[in-house]
Amino acid sequence: MDEQPEKSLNPVEQRIRGYTQKIDMSVCNGCDECGLRCSGDIEMSESEFEAIRRFLSLQKPEEAARVLNQRKEVEFTEGWRVRYCLFRDMEKNNCFVYPARSLVCRLFGYARWLPCPIEKVPVALDDAVEIMQAYSRLERKTFEGWMKAKGIGEGPGDRV
Ligand code: SF4
Ligand code: SF4
Repeated sequence: MDEQPEKSLNPVEQRIRGYTQKIDMSVCNGCDECGLRCSGDIEMSESEFEAIRRFLSLQKPEEAARVLNQRKEVEFTEGWRVRYCLFRDMEKNNCFVYPARSLVCRLFGYARWLPCPIEKVPVALDDAVEIMQAYSRLERKTFEGWMKAKGIGEGPGDRV
């Protein structure tokens, strides 16, 4: 996919973008201790979907295919299975789209209802609830849901 210019953001999206850009996340550099939370299908707004698509389009196609085609389901004990997020790199144990991840992923460890499991993040953000309330007013779908809604093919090569 050719890189597309970013569409202009609506006021709620601008507010969310500004909010997340101000959070100091340096403490998380290189840490994957909350990676177990990267399970299931993460919902995202349309602009977040487009940001992830743009990010994927800038990666080496073979690297993107390596991650997107990985088996994401892990059986820990008999009967207890976890299906990880499409963007979790199961070989490197990190997020493949980390710079473009959506709001809920950015709040891992920083919101009171998503605390850092190793207590490395010094303060929870008091206004995270308010930002999530604003965010909840945006239409959100899973990455695959947006692909379907926009009539983009469902093959691995269509995702990037
Ligand atoms: S997009 Fe990245 S941070 Fe968010 S759930 Fe998926 S792997 Fe985790
Ligand atoms: S929130 Fe905590 S566990 Fe998660 S990456 Fe940051 S420091 Fe590590």
